[in-house]
Amino acid sequence: MPGIIRFAPSPTGFLHEGHLLSALYVWAAAKKWDLKIHLRIEDHDQGRARKEYIDGIREDLAWLGFKYDSESIQSSHFNFFQNVLDKLTAKGFVYPCTCSRKQLQSENPISETGEVIYQGKCRTQTAPCSEPHSLRIVIPDKVINWHDERLGDFSENPKKQCGDFPIRDRDGFWTYQFAVCIDDLTEGITHIVRGEDIRNSTARQIALSQLISDTCQGDLPIPAYTRPLYLHHPLIVDSSGKKLSKREHAYSLRQDKDAGKTAQEILGQILYKAGFLGNNTPIALDQAIAIVAESL
Ligand code: GLU
Ligand code: ZN
Repeated sequence: MPGIIRFAPSPTGFLHEGHLLSALYVWAAAKKWDLKIHLRIEDHDQGRARKEYIDGIREDLAWLGFKYDSESIQSSHFNFFQNVLDKLTAKGFVYPCTCSRKQLQSENPISETGEVIYQGKCRTQTAPCSEPHSLRIVIPDKVINWHDERLGDFSENPKKQCGDFPIRDRDGFWTYQFAVCIDDLTEGITHIVRGEDIRNSTARQIALSQLISDTCQGDLPIPAYTRPLYLHHPLIVDSSGKKLSKREHAYSLRQDKDAGKTAQEILGQILYKAGFLGNNTPIALDQAIAIVAESL
Protein backbone atom coordinates (compact mmCIF):
# COMPACT_ATOMS: atom_id res chain seq x y z
CA MET A 1 0.00 0.00 0.00
CA PRO A 2 1.41 3.43 -0.87
CA GLY A 3 2.12 5.73 2.05
CA ILE A 4 0.22 8.94 2.63
CA ILE A 5 1.61 12.40 3.23
CA ARG A 6 -0.48 15.39 4.20
CA PHE A 7 -0.45 19.11 3.60
CA ALA A 8 -2.26 20.64 6.56
CA PRO A 9 -2.77 24.42 6.36
CA SER A 10 -4.75 26.26 9.03
CA PRO A 11 -7.39 28.50 7.42
CA THR A 12 -6.60 31.50 9.59
CA GLY A 13 -5.44 33.49 6.58
CA PHE A 14 -4.77 33.10 2.87
CA LEU A 15 -1.84 31.00 1.65
CA HIS A 16 1.49 32.77 2.06
CA GLU A 17 5.08 32.00 1.17
CA GLY A 18 5.57 29.80 4.23
CA HIS A 19 2.69 27.57 3.14
CA LEU A 20 3.92 27.51 -0.43
CA LEU A 21 7.38 26.35 0.62
CA SER A 22 5.80 23.64 2.81
CA ALA A 23 3.59 22.56 -0.09
CA LEU A 24 6.62 22.28 -2.37
CA TYR A 25 8.37 20.08 0.20
CA VAL A 26 5.28 17.92 0.67
CA TRP A 27 4.78 17.41 -3.07
CA ALA A 28 8.54 16.82 -3.46
CA ALA A 29 8.49 14.16 -0.72
CA ALA A 30 5.48 12.52 -2.38
CA LYS A 31 7.39 12.39 -5.63
CA LYS A 32 10.52 11.02 -4.01
CA TRP A 33 8.78 8.37 -1.88
CA ASP A 34 5.86 7.70 -4.19
CA LEU A 35 3.15 8.77 -1.74
CA LYS A 36 -0.51 9.72 -1.96
CA ILE A 37 -1.16 13.35 -1.04
CA HIS A 38 -3.89 14.33 1.40
CA LEU A 39 -5.05 17.91 1.90
CA ARG A 40 -6.26 18.49 5.45
CA ILE A 41 -7.83 21.83 6.30
CA GLU A 42 -6.92 22.32 9.97
CA ASP A 43 -9.81 24.47 11.15
CA HIS A 44 -9.64 23.26 14.77
CA ASP A 45 -9.40 26.87 15.97
CA GLN A 46 -12.95 27.95 15.29
CA GLY A 47 -12.20 31.37 16.71
CA ARG A 48 -9.82 32.14 13.84
CA ALA A 49 -10.80 29.89 10.94
CA ARG A 50 -12.88 31.56 8.18
CA LYS A 51 -14.76 30.14 5.24
CA GLU A 52 -13.18 32.64 2.84
CA TYR A 53 -9.73 31.33 3.83
CA ILE A 54 -10.79 27.71 3.36
CA ASP A 55 -12.09 28.50 -0.13
CA GLY A 56 -9.03 30.64 -0.76
CA ILE A 57 -6.60 27.84 0.12
CA ARG A 58 -8.33 25.45 -2.29
CA GLU A 59 -8.44 28.08 -5.05
CA ASP A 60 -4.82 29.11 -4.64
CA LEU A 61 -3.57 25.52 -4.64
CA ALA A 62 -5.56 24.84 -7.80
CA TRP A 63 -4.30 28.03 -9.42
CA LEU A 64 -0.69 27.08 -8.67
CA GLY A 65 -1.34 23.57 -10.07
CA PHE A 66 -1.00 21.47 -6.88
CA LYS A 67 -3.08 18.28 -7.21
CA TYR A 68 -3.95 15.94 -4.37
CA ASP A 69 -5.58 12.55 -3.95
CA SER A 70 -7.93 13.19 -1.03
CA GLU A 71 -9.13 15.94 1.25
CA SER A 72 -10.63 16.38 4.71
CA ILE A 73 -11.59 19.19 7.05
CA GLN A 74 -11.08 18.92 10.78
CA SER A 75 -14.44 20.42 11.76
CA SER A 76 -16.17 17.38 10.33
CA HIS A 77 -14.31 15.28 12.94
CA PHE A 78 -15.26 17.27 16.03
CA ASN A 79 -17.78 14.68 17.26
CA PHE A 80 -15.14 12.04 16.96
CA PHE A 81 -12.64 14.21 18.87
CA GLN A 82 -15.26 14.36 21.64
CA ASN A 83 -15.47 10.55 21.68
CA VAL A 84 -11.71 10.34 22.04
CA LEU A 85 -11.80 12.93 24.82
CA ASP A 86 -14.51 10.96 26.66
CA LYS A 87 -12.44 7.81 26.48
CA LEU A 88 -9.26 9.53 27.70
CA THR A 89 -11.24 11.20 30.50
CA ALA A 90 -12.80 7.91 31.60
CA LYS A 91 -9.30 6.44 31.89
CA GLY A 92 -8.11 9.37 34.02
CA PHE A 93 -5.81 11.01 31.47
CA VAL A 94 -7.57 14.40 31.34
CA TYR A 95 -8.10 17.17 33.88
CA PRO A 96 -9.52 20.70 33.84
CA CYS A 97 -6.98 23.50 34.34
CA THR A 98 -8.35 26.78 35.64
CA CYS A 99 -5.03 28.65 35.66
CA SER A 100 -5.19 32.03 33.92
CA ARG A 101 -2.59 32.96 31.33
CA LYS A 102 -0.99 35.24 33.90
CA GLN A 103 -0.82 32.46 36.50
CA LEU A 104 0.63 30.06 33.97
CA GLN A 105 3.41 32.55 33.20
CA SER A 106 4.21 33.44 36.79
CA GLU A 107 3.83 30.07 38.50
CA ASN A 108 5.76 27.82 36.14
CA PRO A 109 9.29 27.69 34.75
CA ILE A 110 9.65 29.04 31.21
CA SER A 111 11.68 27.04 28.69
CA GLU A 112 14.52 28.42 26.52
CA THR A 113 12.03 28.78 23.71
CA GLY A 114 9.75 30.88 25.91
CA GLU A 115 7.20 28.17 26.59
CA VAL A 116 5.49 27.55 29.91
CA ILE A 117 6.57 24.23 31.42
CA TYR A 118 3.33 23.42 33.22
CA GLN A 119 4.03 21.84 36.59
CA GLY A 120 0.64 20.20 36.98
CA LYS A 121 -0.96 22.50 39.53
CA CYS A 122 -4.51 21.47 38.59
CA ARG A 123 -3.81 17.77 38.12
CA THR A 124 -5.86 16.77 41.15
CA GLN A 125 -8.88 18.74 39.96
CA THR A 126 -11.70 16.63 38.60
CA ALA A 127 -14.41 17.41 36.07
CA PRO A 128 -17.04 18.79 35.87
CA CYS A 129 -15.64 22.24 36.46
CA SER A 130 -17.80 25.37 36.35
CA GLU A 131 -15.01 27.95 36.05
CA PRO A 132 -13.40 28.76 32.70
CA HIS A 133 -10.85 26.04 32.05
CA SER A 134 -8.78 24.25 29.49
CA LEU A 135 -8.46 20.47 29.47
CA ARG A 136 -4.97 19.07 29.87
CA ILE A 137 -3.66 15.63 29.06
CA VAL A 138 -1.56 13.71 31.59
CA ILE A 139 1.48 13.11 29.45
CA PRO A 140 3.86 10.30 30.47
CA ASP A 141 7.18 11.35 32.01
CA LYS A 142 9.21 9.58 29.35
CA VAL A 143 11.98 10.40 26.90
CA ILE A 144 10.94 10.05 23.27
CA ASN A 145 13.76 9.15 20.90
CA TRP A 146 12.87 10.14 17.38
CA HIS A 147 14.52 10.71 14.06
CA ASP A 148 14.18 13.53 11.56
CA GLU A 149 15.16 12.69 7.99
CA ARG A 150 17.00 16.00 7.66
CA LEU A 151 17.99 17.02 11.17
CA GLY A 152 18.98 13.68 12.67
CA ASP A 153 18.19 12.19 16.08
CA PHE A 154 16.39 13.81 19.01
CA SER A 155 15.77 12.69 22.61
CA GLU A 156 13.04 14.78 24.18
CA ASN A 157 10.74 14.39 27.16
CA PRO A 158 7.48 16.33 26.64
CA LYS A 159 6.89 16.32 30.41
CA LYS A 160 10.11 18.35 30.75
CA GLN A 161 9.60 20.41 27.56
CA CYS A 162 6.11 21.72 28.29
CA GLY A 163 4.46 19.48 30.89
CA ASP A 164 0.85 18.33 30.56
CA PHE A 165 -0.48 20.34 27.62
CA PRO A 166 -4.02 21.44 26.67
CA ILE A 167 -6.08 19.31 24.32
CA ARG A 168 -9.05 21.70 24.52
CA ASP A 169 -8.51 25.41 25.15
CA ARG A 170 -10.37 27.79 27.46
CA ASP A 171 -12.70 28.82 24.63
CA GLY A 172 -13.73 25.20 24.19
CA PHE A 173 -11.80 24.70 20.93
CA TRP A 174 -9.75 21.59 20.22
CA THR A 175 -6.05 22.33 20.23
CA TYR A 176 -3.72 21.76 17.31
CA GLN A 177 -1.85 18.97 19.16
CA PHE A 178 -5.00 16.97 19.87
CA ALA A 179 -6.63 17.44 16.48
CA VAL A 180 -3.49 16.72 14.49
CA CYS A 181 -2.72 13.51 16.40
CA ILE A 182 -6.20 12.07 15.92
CA ASP A 183 -6.31 13.00 12.26
CA ASP A 184 -2.82 11.70 11.50
CA LEU A 185 -3.83 8.41 13.14
CA THR A 186 -7.23 7.98 11.54
CA GLU A 187 -6.15 9.21 8.12
CA GLY A 188 -3.30 6.71 8.03
CA ILE A 189 -0.60 9.32 7.58
CA THR A 190 2.80 7.67 7.08
CA HIS A 191 4.94 10.72 6.26
CA ILE A 192 4.96 14.12 7.97
CA VAL A 193 6.85 16.90 6.22
CA ARG A 194 6.45 20.39 7.66
CA GLY A 195 8.38 23.50 8.66
CA GLU A 196 11.04 23.30 11.35
CA ASP A 197 9.11 25.91 13.35
CA ILE A 198 6.89 23.02 14.53
CA ARG A 199 9.70 20.58 15.24
CA ASN A 200 9.19 21.11 18.97
CA SER A 201 5.74 19.58 18.70
CA THR A 202 6.97 16.26 17.42
CA ALA A 203 7.87 14.48 20.68
CA ARG A 204 4.57 15.56 22.23
CA GLN A 205 2.65 14.35 19.20
CA ILE A 206 4.41 10.99 19.31
CA ALA A 207 3.59 10.66 23.03
CA LEU A 208 -0.03 11.78 22.61
CA SER A 209 -0.65 9.62 19.54
CA GLN A 210 0.65 6.58 21.40
CA LEU A 211 -1.57 7.37 24.38
CA ILE A 212 -4.67 7.94 22.21
CA SER A 213 -4.05 4.77 20.26
CA ASP A 214 -3.39 2.64 23.37
CA THR A 215 -6.45 4.03 25.16
CA CYS A 216 -9.00 4.02 22.32
CA GLN A 217 -8.03 1.08 20.15
CA GLY A 218 -10.75 -1.53 20.07
CA ASP A 219 -13.43 0.87 21.35
CA LEU A 220 -13.09 3.56 18.67
CA PRO A 221 -11.96 3.26 15.06
CA ILE A 222 -8.37 4.16 15.85
CA PRO A 223 -5.52 2.00 14.57
CA ALA A 224 -2.47 0.75 16.43
CA TYR A 225 0.13 3.50 16.36
CA THR A 226 2.90 3.25 13.81
CA ARG A 227 5.18 6.21 13.96
CA PRO A 228 5.29 8.20 10.72
CA LEU A 229 8.50 9.34 9.09
CA TYR A 230 9.31 12.94 10.00
CA LEU A 231 11.08 15.64 8.04
CA HIS A 232 11.14 19.26 9.14
CA HIS A 233 12.18 21.61 6.37
CA PRO A 234 14.08 24.90 6.63
CA LEU A 235 12.11 28.12 6.62
CA ILE A 236 12.60 31.20 4.51
CA VAL A 237 14.95 33.70 6.12
CA ASP A 238 14.81 37.48 5.78
CA SER A 239 17.73 39.61 4.60
CA SER A 240 19.22 39.65 8.11
CA GLY A 241 19.14 35.85 8.24
CA LYS A 242 16.23 35.73 10.67
CA LYS A 243 13.65 33.02 10.04
CA LEU A 244 10.24 34.30 9.07
CA SER A 245 7.66 32.68 11.25
CA LYS A 246 4.27 31.95 9.73
CA ARG A 247 2.82 35.00 11.40
CA GLU A 248 5.51 37.25 10.01
CA HIS A 249 4.79 36.51 6.38
CA ALA A 250 3.40 39.89 5.65
CA TYR A 251 1.43 39.20 2.53
CA SER A 252 -0.50 36.38 0.93
CA LEU A 253 0.12 34.85 -2.46
CA ARG A 254 -3.19 36.32 -3.58
CA GLN A 255 -1.70 39.77 -3.36
CA ASP A 256 1.03 38.76 -5.84
CA LYS A 257 -1.54 37.01 -7.99
CA ASP A 258 -3.89 40.00 -7.95
CA ALA A 259 -0.96 42.25 -8.83
CA GLY A 260 -0.60 40.22 -12.03
CA LYS A 261 2.18 37.76 -11.20
CA THR A 262 1.95 34.34 -12.84
CA ALA A 263 2.08 31.07 -10.91
CA GLN A 264 5.51 30.41 -12.47
CA GLU A 265 6.80 33.77 -11.28
CA ILE A 266 5.57 33.13 -7.76
CA LEU A 267 7.15 29.66 -7.74
CA GLY A 268 10.45 31.05 -9.04
CA GLN A 269 10.39 33.75 -6.39
CA ILE A 270 9.87 31.28 -3.56
CA LEU A 271 12.63 28.94 -4.76
CA TYR A 272 14.94 31.93 -5.06
CA LYS A 273 14.13 33.13 -1.54
CA ALA A 274 14.56 29.62 -0.16
CA GLY A 275 18.00 29.39 -1.76
CA PHE A 276 17.16 26.76 -4.40
CA LEU A 277 17.71 29.10 -7.36
CA GLY A 278 20.48 31.64 -7.89
CA ASN A 279 18.13 34.01 -9.73
CA ASN A 280 14.56 35.05 -9.38
CA THR A 281 13.29 33.47 -12.61
CA PRO A 282 9.89 31.90 -13.39
CA ILE A 283 9.68 28.13 -13.10
CA ALA A 284 7.02 25.49 -13.82
CA LEU A 285 5.53 23.63 -10.85
CA ASP A 286 6.82 20.19 -11.97
CA GLN A 287 10.31 21.56 -12.22
CA ALA A 288 10.05 23.35 -8.89
CA ILE A 289 8.94 20.11 -7.20
CA ALA A 290 11.75 18.19 -8.87
CA ILE A 291 14.35 20.70 -7.61
CA VAL A 292 13.09 20.46 -4.03
CA ALA A 293 12.89 16.65 -4.30
CA GLU A 294 16.60 16.60 -5.21
CA SER A 295 17.40 18.17 -1.85
CA LEU A 296 15.61 15.48 0.18
N1 GLU B 1 -1.79 23.40 10.61
C1 GLU B 1 -0.41 23.63 10.87
C2 GLU B 1 0.01 24.96 10.32
O1 GLU B 1 -0.54 25.44 9.36
C3 GLU B 1 0.50 22.58 10.28
C4 GLU B 1 0.44 21.35 11.06
C5 GLU B 1 1.37 20.22 10.71
O2 GLU B 1 1.87 20.13 9.59
O3 GLU B 1 1.55 19.39 11.59
O4 GLU B 1 0.90 25.54 10.88
ZN1 ZN C 1 -3.82 24.81 36.02
